[in-house]
Amino acid sequence: MSTFDEVNLFINNAADRLGLADGLREMLIRPWRELHVQVPVRMDNNQIEVFTGFRVQHNGARGPYKGGIRYHPEADIEEVRGLASLMTWKTALVDIPYGGAKGGVQVDPKQLSENELNRLTRRYTQSIEHLIAPNRDIPAPDLGTTAQTMAWIMDAYGQLNGHSPAIVTGKPVELGGSLGREAATGQGVAYILHEASKDMGFDMIGSKIVIQGFGNVGSWTARLMYSNGCKIVGVSGVEGGVYNADGLDIPGLVEYHKINGKVAGFTGGTQISNSELLELDCDVLVPAAIDNVITEDNATHIKSPLILEAANHPITPNADSILTERGITVLPDILVNAGGVIVSYFEWTQNIQGFHWEESRVNEELNKILIKAYREVRSRAINESITHRQASFELAVKRVARVVELRGFV
Ligand code: NAD
Repeated sequence: MSTFDEVNLFINNAADRLGLADGLREMLIRPWRELHVQVPVRMDNNQIEVFTGFRVQHNGARGPYKGGIRYHPEADIEEVRGLASLMTWKTALVDIPYGGAKGGVQVDPKQLSENELNRLTRRYTQSIEHLIAPNRDIPAPDLGTTAQTMAWIMDAYGQLNGHSPAIVTGKPVELGGSLGREAATGQGVAYILHEASKDMGFDMIGSKIVIQGFGNVGSWTARLMYSNGCKIVGVSGVEGGVYNADGLDIPGLVEYHKINGKVAGFTGGTQISNSELLELDCDVLVPAAIDNVITEDNATHIKSPLILEAANHPITPNADSILTERGITVLPDILVNAGGVIVSYFEWTQNIQGFHWEESRVNEELNKILIKAYREVRSRAINESITHRQASFELAVKRVARVVELRGFV
């Protein structure tokens, strides 16, 4: 089953419980617009290589489309469509005025030089330029893309449309990026843990955390939880991971990663594989790498009583049911990793106003929005005896359905 079909199971479940009519349900499920593009790039060896790219605008009822751009060899249309749909529900759940979108290019960015990546990004931007605009569709970083990628998009778009910092978020601060944006997704995960630990009756300080992924989201989650007093016992990247029952030296690991580009090989712990990492004994498991890492094959082996989905769609629906039956609490991606899009929203509003916020204000407003959403999800889950994922999708689907009706589309 594709990522898109899997996300639709969650939407259909919410639509059933909310009693939505078939036509309305179909409007909410199907993407409004999809674009497939070829991205030809002259490589450093003077040969032309042709990559495939997409931009999916899933739903724009609540505001401009918003969603990251992913550079990954397996970023196919079904995956990008599913991730675009998740953005619709995420922005609705945290109640910021955006719709949902996602972009992707099928490429392994690690195989390209800096100049090749710059050319690829400019060519992709030209190909989607007619679909994006500061009040229409605003991209951001995702897997395999960075603040530098956003700077190239802003420049390529600006050459055609004039200076337009609000065309992308997650930019370098020197180009109009927001203070706090780089850390925002991890900051949000840390805020959610703080709140959830109170509800679940355990002390966050000294709690044992395992994190899969040490890119933007994973490394900031590790840094912030470490500075909040958590014990980060396991961390991994695509090349494998490290484990230390007494807690890893996260500042040391950040330095090691900066030099070596991976966590595997760090001497402050024992080496473990990604599958071993997910099955470690811990208080909180944070998948923060890629989709579909917890499946029906390993869901029965997960030992953590709490999972925070920092990555998008890390748990398949079948695995989700197994975890629920086993009494494991899963806080879903559309809530847990929403910190990134919330601070992207702050960046966009600062760009439109031509104004800068202090970092303390960014984090304060982020906390306010995210914890309000967490509280709404938690109350609904408890009151209706449903999972946090079901509660999250119900709240989000209800909000988008209401706006579709108010606009009088049909
Ligand atoms: P990134 O490219 O910065 O880092 C990805 C990390 O995952 C790296 O450490 C990489 O080694 C690891 N990884 C890749 N393939 C792996 C595999 N097969 N097994 C184990 N580890 C693997 O990406 P990111 O921006 O940190 O995004 C991570 C996840 O968080 C994605 O699902 C993304 O959609 C989601 N997300 C990101 C943001 C954001 O602000 N960057 C916001 C919301 C959600």
